[in-house]
Amino acid sequence: MAQKKSKEEVVEEMQKVVEQMRLDDIADNPDSANEYFQCDACGQDAPLAGSIQYGHYRLCNDCVLLAEVGFELKQLTDIQELIDKMEDKRLEADCEFIKQDQLRHAQKVLNEDSLN
Ligand SMILES: [Zn+2]
Repeated sequence: MAQKKSKEEVVEEMQKVVEQMRLDDIADNPDSANEYFQCDACGQDAPLAGSIQYGHYRLCNDCVLLAEVGFELKQLTDIQELIDKMEDKRLEADCEFIKQDQLRHAQKVLNEDSLN
């Protein structure tokens, strides 16, 4: 019987998977590390390497990690949910101060979550 993985284990495992995708992309096409696109989720300019096309959206390597962890933990049922959740972040992509603030908030939420 498969053991239920903890959130930390899922994140750790997915980090490896997603990093491997990025390395594979660079191995297949070295230019992909230097070609940039605008991520549909976070709105940042990100290298094509490690990005994935989900339906109409192309997500950067960081957002692919979020998406895959979300799917694995059943926090997301489709990619549209992630896009909607990221909308605020996208709008504030220019504002480093708010981004830092959100990061701290996200870390706090994650920490509180893992205590339960
Ligand atoms: Zn992104």
